[in-house]
Amino acid sequence: MDGTSFGVAWGCGCGPDCFTLDDDGFTCRKVQDAPEVWRVELLMHDTFLPSVNAFVVLDAGEALVVDAGTPDPFNDTRLMRALVGLGVDPERTTLFCTHAHVDHTGLARELAEAGARVVIPEGVLADMRRMAVPAWREKMASRMRTEGVSVAEASELADVIWDHAINFETEKIPFGTVGVRDMLRCGRWSFEVVAAPGHTPGQCVLWESSTRTAFLGDAVLFLCSTCIGFWDEGEDPIGEQLATLGGLSERGIEHAFMGHGLQEGSVSERCEKNAAHHERRSARALAAIESEPGRTGFELVPAMGWHAPFDHWGETPAMTRWFLVSESIAHLDHLVAMGAVRRARDASGVSRYFAAER
Ligand SMILES: [Zn+2]
Ligand SMILES: [Zn+2]
Repeated sequence: MDGTSFGVAWGCGCGPDCFTLDDDGFTCRKVQDAPEVWRVELLMHDTFLPSVNAFVVLDAGEALVVDAGTPDPFNDTRLMRALVGLGVDPERTTLFCTHAHVDHTGLARELAEAGARVVIPEGVLADMRRMAVPAWREKMASRMRTEGVSVAEASELADVIWDHAINFETEKIPFGTVGVRDMLRCGRWSFEVVAAPGHTPGQCVLWESSTRTAFLGDAVLFLCSTCIGFWDEGEDPIGEQLATLGGLSERGIEHAFMGHGLQEGSVSERCEKNAAHHERRSARALAAIESEPGRTGFELVPAMGWHAPFDHWGETPAMTRWFLVSESIAHLDHLVAMGAVRRARDASGVSRYFAAER
């Protein structure tokens, strides 16, 4: 392969079944033989995660790309080089996005413009319509104010996160939808669309049963616990995530490809450990409510066992504060949904938490 016309070194060997995408260390590497899967590692912005994966499944001249990375001119070039290097015909390529987050949908426009068919689950379209609009920002800010976050901080935290999803409709990116249990084909392989709510309401994973291969998006990661933020009051994202982790654990997945990092050991054990981690956190929240009834959600955040710099809250980056506050609220929603905790508004409209009478 000759990459010299691009002006920088790419397409160089980096071991068997591997080629570089530029001279910054990004590579495209084969990670499975059957189905043939290549990992394209792309730059991640704004979080502590080191990178985001796009996976390319190849069979019989067709390609299925799972997730499309963070938008960034360097990433655009890297993904396109990966496809050129793999000999992929964009006209015979399908892009599937597991969820609406920008690090999984960012390069959809480039792929669509190159001729690829873009497909998302119906639930992901619903998330795009719900979350990639300014009204969602106000909804998040208002919910945080109700949980006792100050007006200024609620605005600040909503601002750092609200445009984290892309809406293909308003962006005028052509796409089609698939339903849960529909099959997506690539050559001789068929992938089932499986609902995996929790990280987002509409997230779906892909499952190939004959080889027990799954593409998991951000349903479960080995690098860290996947972030579970609140949705609307009355919903239970932690409960949804626990059910998703239980379902994935029982599915018998042998080969898992996730949005960030790679599989390190048993998927089933990782799902069980992650579920136990969430359950411990909810138990901590319940104990904190029982020990001092009537606190607000914001007052309860430091009592939930986070390893976080609460002594220097003001100097903590807004993104970190958002993760702490939003996942704490999700745990309170879970306890309310389970009937373990009662939420009551005080005279100023702020929610206060009490253990349910048993
Ligand atoms: Zn995500
Ligand atoms: Zn992600």
